[in-house]
Amino acid sequence: MGFDTTEGFALELDRKDGLRPFRERFYVPQGKIYMDGNSLGLLSRDAEATLLNVLREWKELGIGGWLAAEPSWFYLGEELGKLQAPLVGAAPEEVVATSSTTVNLHSLISTFYRPEGRRGKILADELNFPSDIYALQSQLRLRGLDPAADLVLVKSRDGRTLEEEDIVAAMSEEIALALFPSVLYRSGQLLDIERLTREAHARGIIIGFDCSHSVGSVPHQLSAWEVDFAFWCTYKYLNSGPGGIASLYVNRRHFGRQPGLAGWWGYRKDRQFDMRLEFEPAPSAAGWQIGTINILSAAPLYGSLHLFAEAGIDRVRAKSLQLTSYLIYLVDETLAKPPYNFSVGTPREDGRRGGHVAVEHEDAVRICEALRARGVIPDFRPPSVIRLAPVALYNTFHDVWRTVQHLKAIIDRGEHERFHRERDAVS
Ligand SMILES: *Cc1c(COP(=O)(O)O)cnc(C)c1O
Repeated sequence: MGFDTTEGFALELDRKDGLRPFRERFYVPQGKIYMDGNSLGLLSRDAEATLLNVLREWKELGIGGWLAAEPSWFYLGEELGKLQAPLVGAAPEEVVATSSTTVNLHSLISTFYRPEGRRGKILADELNFPSDIYALQSQLRLRGLDPAADLVLVKSRDGRTLEEEDIVAAMSEEIALALFPSVLYRSGQLLDIERLTREAHARGIIIGFDCSHSVGSVPHQLSAWEVDFAFWCTYKYLNSGPGGIASLYVNRRHFGRQPGLAGWWGYRKDRQFDMRLEFEPAPSAAGWQIGTINILSAAPLYGSLHLFAEAGIDRVRAKSLQLTSYLIYLVDETLAKPPYNFSVGTPREDGRRGGHVAVEHEDAVRICEALRARGVIPDFRPPSVIRLAPVALYNTFHDVWRTVQHLKAIIDRGEHERFHRERDAVS
């Protein structure tokens, strides 16, 4: 679509935005432009209400809350799975909210990684989030294998993105299991999940995806694409709060398998309290729960997901794409040439982009500091990426326009030169 660089144009886009009323449902930090929803989404009034409700129920019901709370704590993991199913394109029983992202990765790898004969290696990529790689390495070591030999990492040609054809070319008969991110955490590239799944299955490879950077921003069809398993965090685009409960998906053809990391919370619910010593997993994704659900970290997600049900993920995606293409346009028009020298590291095709834009600059660390001093919240990823996530439910086109004006002013005035080149412990 045709954009222009005027402020009036940004305001006009906001006037036409059908999702605009949702912004009022969030606590947007006063006087700030929040562009970091891909690291920690903002609190909504809906999420706050369901968290406060759990505290009230705990006060009034004590242990009775496991069944008498609304929704009941005992079934909350399954209920949150059902509410997320439309966001990932799965049946309600294929999704459950449980544990944390990296723990779910361990649990799924320990279930689905079955090295056999020559087919013994794991395939991943060198751009994935380090925690995923650490988990894969430790899973290999646990089985007496050597990550240097048994973890094959697909290389990036440009240090930013992955070519699907390179991934497919690495799917040899030595690979037992493949794991990729849906959206790459740094560049924001969205991989072709459907194609990768089809190619993996044609070669007898089990494939899973880390959807931390796509759920709540990009629609999925995990069931229709026959993805074997997936997992994601909910504190990014799903706005469940810091350390909020994570979630996982298991395709129904795998129901009834023994989970690699069994625990009583994955027992079939109707007999869980029989306390028998033979483990009988729930015949659904719920079988991959391990221990008692963390109700306090799950409660905000319940409110937040109702907001997504109201907005609809397709409308969220449409606005998100409009926001990110507008941001890319403004960087190209305003900030690409000297003395600004910013560039965009995110794929420009809509179908290859998640919800954030990697704006690159060789002075990115200091520019991020200067942005914060001006009340814009970005985040920094080494070596040179300023990640900006204009979030459909609470950011405006005017936020995007003003962010670009701030970047321009920082360079015009040399404001970043006042800051150190080292980043903080959390960036
Ligand atoms: C955010 C993120 C995680 C986070 O893992 P935690 O266990 O929640 O700390 C993992 N993988 C990817 C790709 C992420 O983007």
